[in-house]
Amino acid sequence: MVKKISIIGSGAVGSNLAFHILSRLTIKELVLIDIVDSLAKGVSLDLEDTRAFLNFNTEIIGGSDINLIKDSDIVVLTCGLVRKEGMSREDLLSTNRRIISEVSLKIKELAKSSIVIVVTNPLDLMTYEVNRVTRFNRKRIMGMGSSLDTARFVNLIYKETKVSTCDIEALVFGLHSKDMLPVLSLAKIKGYSLERFIEERKLDVLKRRVKERGTEIVNYLKNRSAYFSPSLACYHLVEAIVNDCNRIIPVSVLLKGEFGLNNVCIGVPCFINRKGIDKIIEYELTPQEKRELLSMGDRFKECMK
Ligand code: NAD
Repeated sequence: MVKKISIIGSGAVGSNLAFHILSRLTIKELVLIDIVDSLAKGVSLDLEDTRAFLNFNTEIIGGSDINLIKDSDIVVLTCGLVRKEGMSREDLLSTNRRIISEVSLKIKELAKSSIVIVVTNPLDLMTYEVNRVTRFNRKRIMGMGSSLDTARFVNLIYKETKVSTCDIEALVFGLHSKDMLPVLSLAKIKGYSLERFIEERKLDVLKRRVKERGTEIVNYLKNRSAYFSPSLACYHLVEAIVNDCNRIIPVSVLLKGEFGLNNVCIGVPCFINRKGIDKIIEYELTPQEKRELLSMGDRFKECMK
């Protein structure tokens, strides 16, 4: 049973995630951490005041002392720099790598049995860093990126077709960057291929738009990046673990031969439950999709240098 969840980084994504957890899940303790003195405390008190509306019994603790994460069942990493207008996710690499590396050491020491969900960008590289530092079983470390990309793809398909999102099935694999792979061969509207609803030229536009969606939002927000949809995407992972849901969700995971990729973290569909990543699911892809996914392995390694 999941009793304790810690969120490291109490900014936009972290605080919204905390709100979703309190609204919908029953856990004993929720810890919020932030390096900025008193931020996590303020956020935790504000969240506590939702108790009378939401009727939860969860104890909420906020502070800047990382030791508060001790014995957490789930640790979510939403700490670090965020993209501003004109920046790519990769521009955050050196600072966020240092932050994630320091925090991972503490997770290794204090929450040895936890499942770690990485949100900090550049997502796949940070997921790799957590694997490198903690040496936890790779199935206890997942990066949230492709499920957000998938949700964005579903929204764009909805806007084009006006078919309810309940009847749209889509998957985006790959790096959580402009190199992501919306997998058209797996996208369906109630069993029919997308091509029956959307002409090829428009499908190409949708693929391009989903790749640029994060940047489009940053360009409007200027000093920050998206957080409503990211915090919900992250919540769905937490929920799948807490409620042992057996959901198939694409997450960034350290690959060891799956899809022909080795020693890289890339978003692929996984079976998520109380164990974390129970299984990596190797869907059949077209030869072109396979090539695109394989080329991401090289791009990942270039970025890691
Ligand atoms: P934010 O600036 O609102 O919050 C980040 C918080 O992390 C800040 O409050 C900061 O003080 C804190 N922090 C920095 N270093 C820390 C440390 N060592 N320990 C504890 N806290 C620390 O940013 P945000 O919008 O919440 O985004 C957080 C991260 O998530 C960013 O890296 C962003 O790029 C990433 N993100 C990823 C996705 C995704 O799909 N994977 C989506 C949105 C945002």
